[in-house]
Amino acid sequence: MKHTKSEALYKEAVKYIPGGVNSPVRSFNSVGISPIFAKKAHGSRITDVDDNEYIDYICSWGPLMLGHSNEEISKGIGEMIASGTSFGLATEIEVEMAKLIVDAYPAIDQVRMVNSGTEATMSALRVARGFTKRNKIVKFEGCYHGHSDGLLVKSGSGTITFGVQTSPGVPTDIVKNTLVCKYNDIEDIKRVFEEDGEDIAAIIVETIGGNMGIVPGKQEFIEFLRKICDEYKTVLIFDEVITGFRLSYNSSLEYFGVKPDMVCLGKIIGAGMPVGAYVGKKEIMEVVSPVGPVYQAGTLSGNPLAMYLGKRNLEILRDNPQIYEALNEKADKLEQGIKNNLKKLNLNYTVNRAGSLVCLFFKEGPVENYDDAIESNVEKYNAYFKEMLDRGVLIGPSQFEAMFLSYAHSDEDIEYTITCNYESLRAIHNL
Ligand code: PMP
Repeated sequence: MKHTKSEALYKEAVKYIPGGVNSPVRSFNSVGISPIFAKKAHGSRITDVDDNEYIDYICSWGPLMLGHSNEEISKGIGEMIASGTSFGLATEIEVEMAKLIVDAYPAIDQVRMVNSGTEATMSALRVARGFTKRNKIVKFEGCYHGHSDGLLVKSGSGTITFGVQTSPGVPTDIVKNTLVCKYNDIEDIKRVFEEDGEDIAAIIVETIGGNMGIVPGKQEFIEFLRKICDEYKTVLIFDEVITGFRLSYNSSLEYFGVKPDMVCLGKIIGAGMPVGAYVGKKEIMEVVSPVGPVYQAGTLSGNPLAMYLGKRNLEILRDNPQIYEALNEKADKLEQGIKNNLKKLNLNYTVNRAGSLVCLFFKEGPVENYDDAIESNVEKYNAYFKEMLDRGVLIGPSQFEAMFLSYAHSDEDIEYTITCNYESLRAIHNL
Protein backbone atom coordinates (compact mmCIF):
# COMPACT_ATOMS: atom_id res chain seq x y z
CA MET A 1 0.00 0.00 0.00
CA LYS A 2 1.49 3.33 -1.06
CA HIS A 3 1.11 6.50 1.01
CA THR A 4 3.03 8.88 -1.26
CA LYS A 5 0.52 11.74 -1.18
CA SER A 6 -0.10 11.39 2.55
CA GLU A 7 3.63 11.51 3.20
CA ALA A 8 4.04 14.62 1.05
CA LEU A 9 1.12 16.31 2.80
CA TYR A 10 2.56 15.43 6.17
CA LYS A 11 5.89 17.07 5.27
CA GLU A 12 4.00 20.22 4.35
CA ALA A 13 1.67 20.01 7.36
CA VAL A 14 4.45 19.88 9.98
CA LYS A 15 5.68 23.25 8.73
CA TYR A 16 2.44 24.95 9.66
CA ILE A 17 0.71 22.79 12.27
CA PRO A 18 2.37 21.37 15.41
CA GLY A 19 3.10 17.74 14.59
CA GLY A 20 1.17 18.22 11.36
CA VAL A 21 -2.18 17.52 13.04
CA ASN A 22 -4.93 19.35 14.86
CA SER A 23 -5.30 16.61 17.48
CA PRO A 24 -2.41 14.41 18.70
CA VAL A 25 -3.95 10.96 18.11
CA ARG A 26 -4.18 11.68 14.38
CA SER A 27 -0.41 11.90 14.09
CA PHE A 28 0.42 8.14 14.08
CA ASN A 29 3.63 9.20 15.86
CA SER A 30 3.04 6.53 18.44
CA VAL A 31 3.12 3.80 15.79
CA GLY A 32 6.14 5.33 14.09
CA ILE A 33 4.67 6.01 10.66
CA SER A 34 3.53 9.04 8.75
CA PRO A 35 -0.21 9.69 9.25
CA ILE A 36 -2.70 9.01 6.49
CA PHE A 37 -4.69 11.96 5.23
CA ALA A 38 -8.37 11.30 4.61
CA LYS A 39 -10.02 12.27 1.34
CA LYS A 40 -13.56 10.95 1.62
CA ALA A 41 -15.62 8.33 3.39
CA HIS A 42 -18.86 6.49 2.91
CA GLY A 43 -20.58 3.87 5.06
CA SER A 44 -17.92 1.78 6.77
CA ARG A 45 -15.18 2.81 4.31
CA ILE A 46 -12.69 5.63 4.38
CA THR A 47 -10.45 6.56 1.44
CA ASP A 48 -7.14 8.34 1.86
CA VAL A 49 -5.53 10.87 -0.50
CA ASP A 50 -3.62 8.01 -2.19
CA ASP A 51 -6.96 6.31 -2.92
CA ASN A 52 -6.32 3.46 -0.50
CA GLU A 53 -9.59 2.25 0.99
CA TYR A 54 -9.96 1.00 4.57
CA ILE A 55 -12.69 -0.47 6.70
CA ASP A 56 -12.85 2.22 9.33
CA TYR A 57 -13.07 1.43 13.05
CA ILE A 58 -12.14 4.96 14.14
CA CYS A 59 -15.42 6.38 12.82
CA SER A 60 -14.36 9.92 13.81
CA TRP A 61 -13.64 8.51 17.31
CA GLY A 62 -17.16 7.40 17.90
CA PRO A 63 -19.90 9.68 16.68
CA LEU A 64 -20.61 8.03 13.33
CA MET A 65 -22.86 5.29 14.60
CA LEU A 66 -24.67 5.15 11.28
CA GLY A 67 -21.46 5.24 9.26
CA HIS A 68 -19.88 7.95 7.15
CA SER A 69 -21.86 10.35 4.93
CA ASN A 70 -25.21 8.90 5.84
CA GLU A 71 -27.72 10.37 3.39
CA GLU A 72 -30.66 9.94 5.77
CA ILE A 73 -28.92 12.20 8.25
CA SER A 74 -27.73 14.83 5.81
CA LYS A 75 -30.92 15.05 3.73
CA GLY A 76 -31.98 18.71 3.68
CA ILE A 77 -28.68 20.13 4.98
CA GLY A 78 -28.29 22.14 1.72
CA GLU A 79 -31.47 24.12 2.45
CA MET A 80 -30.33 24.64 6.03
CA ILE A 81 -27.06 26.14 4.82
CA ALA A 82 -28.91 28.33 2.34
CA SER A 83 -31.06 29.73 5.13
CA GLY A 84 -28.14 30.79 7.30
CA THR A 85 -25.22 29.12 9.08
CA SER A 86 -25.31 30.96 12.42
CA PHE A 87 -27.55 33.67 13.82
CA GLY A 88 -26.38 34.59 17.29
CA LEU A 89 -30.03 34.29 18.28
CA ALA A 90 -32.07 31.45 19.72
CA THR A 91 -33.51 29.02 17.14
CA GLU A 92 -36.40 26.56 17.12
CA ILE A 93 -34.14 23.58 16.39
CA GLU A 94 -32.22 24.13 19.66
CA VAL A 95 -35.47 23.67 21.57
CA GLU A 96 -36.31 20.54 19.60
CA MET A 97 -32.84 19.13 20.18
CA ALA A 98 -32.94 19.85 23.92
CA LYS A 99 -36.32 18.13 24.19
CA LEU A 100 -35.03 15.11 22.29
CA ILE A 101 -32.12 14.73 24.71
CA VAL A 102 -34.24 15.26 27.84
CA ASP A 103 -36.75 12.66 26.59
CA ALA A 104 -33.90 10.15 26.25
CA TYR A 105 -32.60 10.83 29.77
CA PRO A 106 -35.47 10.54 32.26
CA ALA A 107 -33.09 11.51 35.11
CA ILE A 108 -32.43 14.98 33.79
CA ASP A 109 -34.45 18.09 32.92
CA GLN A 110 -32.37 20.66 31.08
CA VAL A 111 -29.68 20.87 28.42
CA ARG A 112 -27.01 23.47 27.64
CA MET A 113 -25.33 23.04 24.26
CA VAL A 114 -21.60 23.66 23.85
CA ASN A 115 -19.10 22.93 21.07
CA SER A 116 -17.05 19.96 22.25
CA GLY A 117 -16.74 17.28 24.90
CA THR A 118 -14.01 19.31 26.58
CA GLU A 119 -16.36 22.26 26.98
CA ALA A 120 -19.11 19.99 28.26
CA THR A 121 -17.04 18.49 31.10
CA MET A 122 -15.32 21.77 31.98
CA SER A 123 -18.68 23.55 32.20
CA ALA A 124 -20.44 20.75 34.05
CA LEU A 125 -17.78 20.87 36.77
CA ARG A 126 -18.09 24.63 37.10
CA VAL A 127 -21.83 24.23 37.48
CA ALA A 128 -21.46 21.43 40.03
CA ARG A 129 -19.02 23.58 42.03
CA GLY A 130 -21.34 26.59 41.80
CA PHE A 131 -24.29 24.47 42.88
CA THR A 132 -22.59 22.76 45.84
CA LYS A 133 -20.33 25.71 46.74
CA ARG A 134 -17.47 23.22 47.08
CA ASN A 135 -14.07 23.08 45.39
CA LYS A 136 -12.84 19.56 44.93
CA ILE A 137 -13.73 17.02 42.29
CA VAL A 138 -13.01 13.30 41.92
CA LYS A 139 -11.93 11.73 38.66
CA PHE A 140 -10.53 8.29 37.87
CA GLU A 141 -7.15 7.19 36.57
CA GLY A 142 -7.22 6.53 32.85
CA CYS A 143 -10.49 8.36 32.26
CA TYR A 144 -10.18 11.20 29.77
CA HIS A 145 -12.56 14.12 30.02
CA GLY A 146 -11.07 16.49 27.46
CA HIS A 147 -8.15 18.85 27.89
CA SER A 148 -9.32 21.51 30.34
CA ASP A 149 -6.73 22.26 33.04
CA GLY A 150 -8.34 20.63 36.05
CA LEU A 151 -9.07 17.40 34.18
CA LEU A 152 -5.66 16.78 32.63
CA VAL A 153 -4.55 14.72 35.59
CA LYS A 154 -3.82 11.00 35.26
CA SER A 155 -5.86 11.18 32.12
CA GLY A 156 -6.42 8.74 29.25
CA SER A 157 -6.48 8.57 25.44
CA GLY A 158 -3.66 10.56 23.76
CA THR A 159 -2.30 11.55 27.16
CA ILE A 160 -1.40 7.89 27.83
CA THR A 161 -0.28 7.33 24.25
CA PHE A 162 2.08 10.29 24.34
CA GLY A 163 3.03 9.99 28.00
CA VAL A 164 1.77 13.40 29.15
CA GLN A 165 -0.79 12.32 31.67
CA THR A 166 -0.46 15.52 33.64
CA SER A 167 0.45 18.23 31.20
CA PRO A 168 2.99 21.00 31.70
CA GLY A 169 1.12 24.30 31.54
CA VAL A 170 -1.46 23.19 34.06
CA PRO A 171 -0.93 25.14 37.31
CA THR A 172 -0.54 22.97 40.44
CA ASP A 173 -2.93 25.36 42.19
CA ILE A 174 -5.65 24.14 39.87
CA VAL A 175 -4.98 20.41 39.98
CA LYS A 176 -4.78 20.37 43.76
CA ASN A 177 -8.59 20.32 43.65
CA THR A 178 -8.65 17.27 41.42
CA LEU A 179 -8.63 14.07 43.47
CA VAL A 180 -7.79 10.96 41.49
CA CYS A 181 -9.10 7.50 42.38
CA LYS A 182 -8.53 4.07 40.89
CA TYR A 183 -11.19 3.01 38.43
CA ASN A 184 -13.47 0.21 39.61
CA ASP A 185 -12.04 0.53 43.15
CA ILE A 186 -14.70 1.24 45.77
CA GLU A 187 -12.24 1.30 48.69
CA ASP A 188 -10.25 4.07 47.04
CA ILE A 189 -13.36 6.27 46.71
CA LYS A 190 -14.26 5.62 50.34
CA ARG A 191 -10.79 6.75 51.36
CA VAL A 192 -11.02 10.00 49.44
CA PHE A 193 -14.49 10.77 50.78
CA GLU A 194 -13.44 10.04 54.34
CA GLU A 195 -10.68 12.62 53.95
CA ASP A 196 -12.41 15.32 51.88
CA GLY A 197 -16.06 14.32 51.40
CA GLU A 198 -17.55 17.60 52.69
CA ASP A 199 -15.64 19.55 50.05
CA ILE A 200 -16.21 17.29 47.05
CA ALA A 201 -18.48 19.01 44.54
CA ALA A 202 -18.62 16.22 41.97
CA ILE A 203 -17.52 12.81 40.85
CA ILE A 204 -16.97 12.67 37.10
CA VAL A 205 -16.74 9.23 35.55
CA GLU A 206 -16.78 7.41 32.24
CA THR A 207 -19.22 4.59 33.04
CA ILE A 208 -17.38 2.55 30.44
CA GLY A 209 -13.76 3.63 30.47
CA GLY A 210 -13.23 4.36 26.77
CA ASN A 211 -9.87 6.09 26.85
CA MET A 212 -7.59 3.41 28.30
CA GLY A 213 -8.79 0.94 25.72
CA ILE A 214 -12.23 -0.30 26.76
CA VAL A 215 -12.56 -0.91 30.48
CA PRO A 216 -16.17 -1.33 31.55
CA GLY A 217 -17.19 0.05 34.92
CA LYS A 218 -18.41 -2.74 37.18
CA GLN A 219 -22.07 -2.61 38.12
CA GLU A 220 -21.32 -2.41 41.86
CA PHE A 221 -18.77 0.35 41.25
CA ILE A 222 -21.23 2.55 39.35
CA GLU A 223 -23.93 1.85 41.97
CA PHE A 224 -21.52 2.77 44.74
CA LEU A 225 -20.78 6.12 43.09
CA ARG A 226 -24.49 6.92 43.27
CA LYS A 227 -24.63 5.87 46.91
CA ILE A 228 -21.68 7.92 48.09
CA CYS A 229 -22.83 10.97 46.11
CA ASP A 230 -26.23 10.74 47.83
CA GLU A 231 -24.57 10.44 51.20
CA TYR A 232 -22.33 13.49 50.73
CA LYS A 233 -24.69 15.54 48.51
CA THR A 234 -22.05 15.39 45.78
CA VAL A 235 -23.06 15.77 42.14
CA LEU A 236 -22.63 12.56 40.12
CA ILE A 237 -21.59 13.34 36.55
CA PHE A 238 -21.52 10.67 33.87
CA ASP A 239 -19.19 11.64 31.05
CA GLU A 240 -20.99 10.00 28.16
CA VAL A 241 -19.05 11.62 25.33
CA ILE A 242 -18.32 8.10 24.06
CA THR A 243 -21.13 6.05 25.57
CA GLY A 244 -24.08 8.45 25.20
CA PHE A 245 -26.66 7.12 22.73
CA ARG A 246 -24.20 4.34 21.89
CA LEU A 247 -24.63 1.82 24.69
CA SER A 248 -28.35 2.17 24.10
CA TYR A 249 -30.67 5.04 23.24
CA ASN A 250 -30.96 5.74 26.97
CA SER A 251 -27.22 5.39 27.37
CA SER A 252 -25.73 4.46 30.75
CA LEU A 253 -29.02 5.08 32.49
CA GLU A 254 -30.41 1.94 30.89
CA TYR A 255 -27.14 0.00 30.82
CA PHE A 256 -26.47 0.34 34.55
CA GLY A 257 -29.89 1.42 35.84
CA VAL A 258 -28.17 4.19 37.79
CA LYS A 259 -29.33 7.81 37.57
CA PRO A 260 -26.67 10.51 37.39
CA ASP A 261 -27.30 14.16 38.41
CA MET A 262 -25.57 15.49 35.32
CA VAL A 263 -24.41 14.05 32.00
CA CYS A 264 -21.79 15.28 29.55
CA LEU A 265 -22.37 14.57 25.90
CA GLY A 266 -20.16 15.26 22.91
CA LYS A 267 -19.50 14.44 19.28
CA ILE A 268 -22.15 11.71 19.15
CA ILE A 269 -25.04 14.16 19.46
CA GLY A 270 -23.70 16.09 16.48
CA ALA A 271 -23.23 13.07 14.20
CA GLY A 272 -19.68 14.29 13.58
CA MET A 273 -20.26 18.04 13.86
CA PRO A 274 -18.41 19.97 16.59
CA VAL A 275 -20.96 19.65 19.40
CA GLY A 276 -21.20 18.92 23.07
CA ALA A 277 -23.76 19.40 25.82
CA TYR A 278 -24.04 19.24 29.55
CA VAL A 279 -27.38 18.25 30.92
CA GLY A 280 -28.74 17.94 34.42
CA LYS A 281 -31.48 18.15 36.95
CA LYS A 282 -33.39 21.43 36.94
CA GLU A 283 -32.25 22.56 40.39
CA ILE A 284 -28.62 22.16 39.31
CA MET A 285 -28.98 23.65 35.83
CA GLU A 286 -30.74 26.72 37.27
CA VAL A 287 -27.45 27.99 38.66
CA VAL A 288 -26.36 28.58 35.05
CA SER A 289 -26.45 32.12 33.63
CA PRO A 290 -28.77 33.86 32.76
CA VAL A 291 -31.00 32.18 35.37
CA GLY A 292 -28.26 31.84 37.97
CA PRO A 293 -24.79 33.21 38.70
CA VAL A 294 -22.54 30.53 37.12
CA TYR A 295 -21.27 31.93 33.85
CA GLN A 296 -20.93 29.78 30.75
CA ALA A 297 -21.45 30.90 27.16
CA GLY A 298 -20.67 30.16 23.50
CA THR A 299 -21.08 32.19 20.30
CA LEU A 300 -21.59 29.09 18.17
CA SER A 301 -23.26 26.89 20.80
CA GLY A 302 -26.38 25.23 19.43
CA ASN A 303 -25.23 26.01 15.89
CA PRO A 304 -28.17 25.33 13.55
CA LEU A 305 -26.25 23.06 11.15
CA ALA A 306 -24.84 20.97 13.98
CA MET A 307 -28.29 20.79 15.57
CA TYR A 308 -29.85 19.74 12.29
CA LEU A 309 -27.51 16.81 11.68
CA GLY A 310 -27.44 15.84 15.34
CA LYS A 311 -31.20 15.87 15.61
CA ARG A 312 -31.68 13.73 12.53
CA ASN A 313 -29.12 11.25 13.83
CA LEU A 314 -30.83 10.97 17.21
CA GLU A 315 -34.28 10.66 15.65
CA ILE A 316 -33.11 7.77 13.49
CA LEU A 317 -31.60 6.05 16.53
CA ARG A 318 -34.75 6.67 18.60
CA ASP A 319 -37.13 5.37 15.94
CA ASN A 320 -35.10 2.29 14.99
CA PRO A 321 -34.25 0.23 18.08
CA GLN A 322 -33.16 -2.58 15.74
CA ILE A 323 -30.05 -0.51 15.04
CA TYR A 324 -28.85 -1.18 18.58
CA GLU A 325 -29.63 -4.88 18.27
CA ALA A 326 -27.72 -5.05 14.99
CA LEU A 327 -24.76 -3.11 16.42
CA ASN A 328 -24.56 -5.49 19.36
CA GLU A 329 -24.69 -8.49 17.04
CA LYS A 330 -21.90 -7.08 14.89
CA ALA A 331 -19.77 -6.34 17.96
CA ASP A 332 -20.48 -9.78 19.34
CA LYS A 333 -19.38 -11.37 16.10
CA LEU A 334 -16.18 -9.34 16.08
CA GLU A 335 -15.46 -10.09 19.74
CA GLN A 336 -16.02 -13.83 19.29
CA GLY A 337 -14.01 -13.87 16.06
CA ILE A 338 -11.00 -12.23 17.70
CA LYS A 339 -11.29 -14.49 20.75
CA ASN A 340 -11.35 -17.57 18.50
CA ASN A 341 -8.27 -16.34 16.66
CA LEU A 342 -6.45 -15.82 19.95
CA LYS A 343 -7.35 -19.34 21.00
CA LYS A 344 -6.25 -20.84 17.68
CA LEU A 345 -2.93 -19.01 17.91
CA ASN A 346 -2.48 -19.79 21.59
CA LEU A 347 -2.16 -16.13 22.49
CA ASN A 348 -3.14 -15.05 25.96
CA TYR A 349 -4.53 -11.60 25.15
CA THR A 350 -7.74 -9.98 26.34
CA VAL A 351 -10.78 -8.69 24.48
CA ASN A 352 -12.92 -6.18 26.38
CA ARG A 353 -16.25 -5.11 24.99
CA ALA A 354 -19.21 -2.95 25.95
CA GLY A 355 -22.02 -2.72 23.40
CA SER A 356 -20.48 -1.67 20.10
CA LEU A 357 -17.11 -0.73 21.63
CA VAL A 358 -14.43 -3.40 21.32
CA CYS A 359 -10.80 -3.49 22.42
CA LEU A 360 -8.04 -6.06 22.03
CA PHE A 361 -5.47 -5.63 24.81
CA PHE A 362 -2.07 -7.13 24.19
CA LYS A 363 -1.91 -8.63 27.64
CA GLU A 364 -3.44 -11.33 29.76
CA GLY A 365 -6.68 -10.40 31.49
CA PRO A 366 -8.52 -9.20 33.33
CA VAL A 367 -8.13 -5.56 32.36
CA GLU A 368 -10.17 -3.66 34.94
CA ASN A 369 -8.35 -0.41 35.49
CA TYR A 370 -5.58 1.87 34.29
CA ASP A 371 -2.77 -0.14 35.92
CA ASP A 372 -3.92 -3.26 34.09
CA ALA A 373 -4.32 -1.41 30.78
CA ILE A 374 -0.86 0.14 30.73
CA GLU A 375 0.79 -3.24 31.19
CA SER A 376 -0.23 -4.04 27.61
CA ASN A 377 2.51 -4.70 25.13
CA VAL A 378 2.37 -1.43 23.21
CA GLU A 379 5.12 -2.40 20.73
CA LYS A 380 3.10 -5.45 19.73
CA TYR A 381 -0.04 -3.35 19.36
CA ASN A 382 1.80 -0.86 17.16
CA ALA A 383 3.12 -3.65 14.92
CA TYR A 384 -0.41 -5.10 14.79
CA PHE A 385 -1.84 -1.70 13.83
CA LYS A 386 0.52 -1.52 10.83
CA GLU A 387 -0.32 -5.06 9.70
CA MET A 388 -4.03 -4.26 9.89
CA LEU A 389 -3.58 -0.99 8.01
CA ASP A 390 -1.66 -2.77 5.24
CA ARG A 391 -4.59 -5.15 4.87
CA GLY A 392 -7.06 -2.29 4.60
CA VAL A 393 -8.41 -2.18 8.16
CA LEU A 394 -8.06 1.10 10.05
CA ILE A 395 -8.07 0.86 13.83
CA GLY A 396 -6.93 3.49 16.35
CA PRO A 397 -3.17 4.12 16.20
CA SER A 398 -2.95 3.45 19.93
CA GLN A 399 -3.56 0.54 22.29
CA PHE A 400 -5.57 2.90 24.49
CA GLU A 401 -8.44 3.54 22.10
CA ALA A 402 -11.58 1.59 21.22
CA MET A 403 -12.68 -0.01 17.98
CA PHE A 404 -15.91 1.83 17.15
CA LEU A 405 -18.48 -0.16 15.24
CA SER A 406 -21.14 1.46 13.13
CA TYR A 407 -24.41 0.24 11.68
CA ALA A 408 -22.75 0.53 8.27
CA HIS A 409 -20.23 -2.24 9.04
CA SER A 410 -21.49 -5.21 7.06
CA ASP A 411 -21.13 -8.88 7.96
CA GLU A 412 -18.50 -9.11 5.22
CA ASP A 413 -16.59 -6.20 6.76
CA ILE A 414 -16.56 -7.96 10.12
CA GLU A 415 -15.56 -11.31 8.59
CA TYR A 416 -12.76 -9.66 6.64
CA THR A 417 -11.61 -7.88 9.80
CA ILE A 418 -11.51 -11.17 11.71
CA THR A 419 -9.42 -12.72 8.92
CA CYS A 420 -7.05 -9.74 8.98
CA ASN A 421 -6.86 -9.98 12.76
CA TYR A 422 -5.75 -13.62 12.42
CA GLU A 423 -3.19 -12.90 9.73
CA SER A 424 -1.84 -9.82 11.50
CA LEU A 425 -1.47 -11.62 14.81
CA ARG A 426 0.36 -14.42 13.03
CA ALA A 427 2.64 -11.98 11.23
CA ILE A 428 3.72 -10.08 14.33
CA HIS A 429 4.35 -13.26 16.33
CA ASN A 430 6.06 -15.10 13.46
CA LEU A 431 3.53 -17.91 13.73
N1 PMP B 1 -14.89 12.95 27.43
C1 PMP B 1 -14.65 11.74 26.89
C2 PMP B 1 -15.14 10.52 27.59
C3 PMP B 1 -13.98 11.64 25.67
O1 PMP B 1 -13.76 10.43 25.15
C4 PMP B 1 -13.55 12.82 25.03
C5 PMP B 1 -12.82 12.77 23.70
N2 PMP B 1 -12.84 11.62 23.04
C6 PMP B 1 -13.82 14.06 25.63
C7 PMP B 1 -14.49 14.09 26.83
C8 PMP B 1 -13.39 15.32 24.98
O2 PMP B 1 -14.16 15.59 23.86
P1 PMP B 1 -13.61 16.57 22.72
O3 PMP B 1 -12.47 15.92 22.07
O4 PMP B 1 -14.81 16.76 21.82
O5 PMP B 1 -13.24 17.85 23.40
